Amino acid sequence: MEKLIFEKSVPGRKSHYLPSLDVPEKTIDELIPEKFQRKQDARLPELSELDVARHFVRLSVKNHHIVKGFYPLGSCTMKYNPVINEDQARLSGFRELHPLQPVEMVQGALELMYELQELLKEITGMVDVSLQPAAGAHGELTGLMMIRKYHELQGNPRKYVLIPDSAHGTNPASVTLAGYEAIQIPSDANGCVDLAKFKEHLNDDVAALMLTNPNTLGLFEEHILEITAALHDIGALAYMDGANLNALLGIARPGDMGFDVVHINLHKTFSTPHGGGGPGAGPVAVSDRLQDMLPVPVVEKQEDAYRLNWDRPKSIGKISSFWGNFSVLVRAYTYIRMHGSEGLRRVSENAIINANYLRTKLEKHFRLPYPGKCMHEFVATGEKLREYGLRTLDLAKRLLDYGMHAPTIYFPLIVREAMMIEPTETESKETLDAFADAVAQILLEAQENPDLLKEAPHSTPVARLDEVRAVKQLDINYFTNLEN
Ligand SMILES: *Cc1c(COP(=O)(O)O)cnc(C)c1O
Repeated sequence: MEKLIFEKSVPGRKSHYLPSLDVPEKTIDELIPEKFQRKQDARLPELSELDVARHFVRLSVKNHHIVKGFYPLGSCTMKYNPVINEDQARLSGFRELHPLQPVEMVQGALELMYELQELLKEITGMVDVSLQPAAGAHGELTGLMMIRKYHELQGNPRKYVLIPDSAHGTNPASVTLAGYEAIQIPSDANGCVDLAKFKEHLNDDVAALMLTNPNTLGLFEEHILEITAALHDIGALAYMDGANLNALLGIARPGDMGFDVVHINLHKTFSTPHGGGGPGAGPVAVSDRLQDMLPVPVVEKQEDAYRLNWDRPKSIGKISSFWGNFSVLVRAYTYIRMHGSEGLRRVSENAIINANYLRTKLEKHFRLPYPGKCMHEFVATGEKLREYGLRTLDLAKRLLDYGMHAPTIYFPLIVREAMMIEPTETESKETLDAFADAVAQILLEAQENPDLLKEAPHSTPVARLDEVRAVKQLDINYFTNLEN
């Protein structure tokens, strides 16, 4: 069969691989009930193209983003997103796809999905992958649903999922959504899972442990093999939150650590511009214990053709309206192929080197609750700002006046006045030095003129917003904003 997807597109020509559909024409009245039909012309803004272009450029520089400045938001992996990803995602053969096209017409897209699955299998050391989940949190729910199905099929449904106290908030939320009860496991003095406390909680009602590795303190869980083996001994499974995979590429694999399922935040590790809730993709990779439970349909290769296999009796079913967030998959595929295995390893090595460089510079200013080498990120405490009547939040806001985004603050919850700093591999030494200099300068300001920090930022279009109100009273109407 011909592969039409990669065919060169012809400018001005409509989708060249759609069949001519023999659909009878209908009038508007037949298609749309009268109550939904517009009675007068829509009030659309009348603007020239130049005005529109200027409007968006102006807006784009009002906000802070990775193309404008440093963005060391821990756990979020705000790395630079190569433009080539966007070029690939915009190829007309990809962009004009419709998820209801028959598989014969979308062989190129299925090939890309299949190849991406294979690459993610190699990167994670797991036996199979589903690309369907639309975000990390969605991957968590998918993974937990598979774990639930696994135990049910064993005739032994269980009640609890263990979660370390340093976990991301989505972990307990997903556990609850999946119908389990979360049990919190404390961290030890080194910032890793407290092994003795963990073992106290092991019993026949434990379905799984959910663990981030490296954890949200930027530390590699030292006893990982012992932990996953102890879980398997009681018939429980091991879930890895893979949001921090940026530290492990080509160095260590969840599959080799004994995990049964890991979600991968493609938008973090494999670069898609994200933030403000999307877009993302959170594929899950599984061990042979969970392979049969993967969501349907599964993308498979049969001789030279690709197909969607729905015939999987032990599957948890479908968890996405269609096949996944395809344009994010294209970006991740491009990023992985562009780097190759050597390049991906260098991504992680440089992410770790950058984090440790910045850590040693900032150690002079802030106490590190878990000192010593970190992986791709580290956590410091801004508690000494309290001496000047200030908080970590004030330093975070003042950084914006220096053209830099704040690190993640007040997370993880186990560190007071936490600052979680992830520089990523794409930043230069000059940028890291500039950040350390800005922090030093702000600490001087804190001593001399604390109000400067309290009222910061001074250089942005809006200063301190009530973020909760913005979410609860969402106002995205063009005209109300214009009139106000
Ligand atoms: C980002 C993140 C998540 C959630 O991923 P989303 O794609 O935002 O849903 C879960 N765990 C950790 C550790 C994360 O950093």
